[in-house]
Amino acid sequence: MQLPYAEPLTVREPGERVVPEPPRRGEEGGEPCGICAGKSTAAVWQDEHFSLHPPVGGSLPGAVWLASREHVDSFSDLSPEAAAAFGPVAARVERAILGLGDVGRVHLYRWGDGGAHFHVWFIPRPLGMLEASGMMLPLWEDVLPNVTDEELADAARRVAEAL
Ligand SMILES: [Zn+2]
Repeated sequence: MQLPYAEPLTVREPGERVVPEPPRRGEEGGEPCGICAGKSTAAVWQDEHFSLHPPVGGSLPGAVWLASREHVDSFSDLSPEAAAAFGPVAARVERAILGLGDVGRVHLYRWGDGGAHFHVWFIPRPLGMLEASGMMLPLWEDVLPNVTDEELADAARRVAEAL
């Protein structure tokens, strides 16, 4: 693993904690939920529990995010049916992204710090790009040159077709 930045980097002290934390999008007191408002990218696939979306402004074609159809926050808030469906659908998405080719591994992230609507990211680590292993992939994804949003959407549609 290697940071996508040149040395020397120095370790910073963490800042003051902010408690209570500011409300997130889709949380009481926060901005409206963009997913529920239809302001996110259109779904390339959906079933009764989840919808699959391409990102915008990204560098890795094949990246997609999977959202719950219901406005719920995290895994513990999913309905029992959606929670039971998550594993199988995540496996299908992973397999479909691997099927695009040139993918070493599919990383799955649930951050939850931006919006309060359940969504997980599937990010393909390019085959052979060992410096982007583990936690380095989101950093590399950020600094690599973006591809066009059309390219991201095309790759997401190919993932959807393979589901
Ligand atoms: Zn929502």
